[in-house]
Amino acid sequence: MTTFADRTHAVDSSGSSGSSGSSSAADASTADYIALDERWSTHNYHPLPVVIASGEGATVTDVEGRRYLDFLSGYSALNFGHRHPALVAAAKEQLDRVTLTSRAFHHDQFGLFCRELADLTGTEMVLPMNSGAEAVESAIKVARKWAHRVKGVPDGEARIVVAASNFHGRTTTIVSFSTDESARADFGPFTPGFDVVPYGDAEALAAAITDRTAAVLVEPVQGEAGVVVPPAGYLAEVRRLCDEAGALLIADEIQSGLCRTGTVFALEHEGVRADLYTLGKALGGGIVPVSAVVGRRDVLGVLQPGEHGSTFGGNPLACAVGRAVVRLVATGEFAERATTLGARLHDRLAGLVGHGVTEVRGRGLWAGVDIAPDGPSGREASEALRDRGVLCKETHGSTLRIAPPLVITEDELDTGLDALEAVVRR
Ligand SMILES: *Cc1c(COP(=O)(O)O)cnc(C)c1O
Repeated sequence: MTTFADRTHAVDSSGSSGSSGSSSAADASTADYIALDERWSTHNYHPLPVVIASGEGATVTDVEGRRYLDFLSGYSALNFGHRHPALVAAAKEQLDRVTLTSRAFHHDQFGLFCRELADLTGTEMVLPMNSGAEAVESAIKVARKWAHRVKGVPDGEARIVVAASNFHGRTTTIVSFSTDESARADFGPFTPGFDVVPYGDAEALAAAITDRTAAVLVEPVQGEAGVVVPPAGYLAEVRRLCDEAGALLIADEIQSGLCRTGTVFALEHEGVRADLYTLGKALGGGIVPVSAVVGRRDVLGVLQPGEHGSTFGGNPLACAVGRAVVRLVATGEFAERATTLGARLHDRLAGLVGHGVTEVRGRGLWAGVDIAPDGPSGREASEALRDRGVLCKETHGSTLRIAPPLVITEDELDTGLDALEAVVRR
């Protein structure tokens, strides 16, 4: 009798191609990998039952050798696709030089990364971190210190206004202002100092801002909430209200930024500039975690040595990959693809409304698709799509989130949408 450990070891040493060709052996190895995950890792995710072994461009291949179109892109961390050659080359070159110095010393990629990212984003200063949540935490700390030291809010009194249904990460402070019960339940006590207003409601925001308000923190498009685009004019009104109150506008562009919506920042669609932006996900090119706060010098400049930091933030490997990402974004090619492919995506999805789909939202190559109540659940639809060779993931029960890599071809996009149509059309 073999145990699953024996079998996964056998799978491991026989390579990932699933060369046996027998479907029962194939099923066993997928199940074995999933059993390993379930036995040895915490259950803080509920992944689709597919075990990926390799990826290239817009496709991934599982341990059985089955190919899938990636319609999720690691929640936009893979905007440039899997293993983009320019990004892999930058990473390999840096691996052969130096990978980590800590910020105790300077290194030759750091200042270049910061300057190039600032140039790309039209900002003045860069604070490199690793994960998205860390970038948001960093922006919160900077905004509070700025309010206390520059705006003149009494120490410890600074407040930050956020939107309902937000998603900014998973740390204790960030879940303190989440409105998603499953993100918060049992994780208190919570960090004070946040005021929550409905998303897209400028009047409610105006009423919430006081002379203690350090900042308004907002996603230009709410991703996790189901790709929710605010009403036209809302973000411009947020900017105006912040100016009026002398509060900072912090745009969380971790998911919406770096070409997903057809522009470097999603805020550009409204002609709006933020004081601080948080970036992450695609900034690491799908290779390493890289995040940053970028923005005004007089705001980020409040940080002094010792007040904030990260052992890995701005490390040489991250900076080298980040610089290669900046070069890709600067070509304009990916924003252009998001615009043209996004028009095609939304054209086709619009045709499903009233036919198994109740609503479609989104911008660029990014959509939230609400499946009609008499159709499959989001999970069932995701599993049916997997069976048809397309990987995406539901959010909030009945919404499918579609965000293919921006390198996807028109034909691949159509193939994936054919599968989606077959699964949800009524
Ligand atoms: C993913 C995401 C985050 C958190 O990023 P992590 O790297 O997972 O910590 C924050 N804000 C937004 C808008 C996101 O989409």
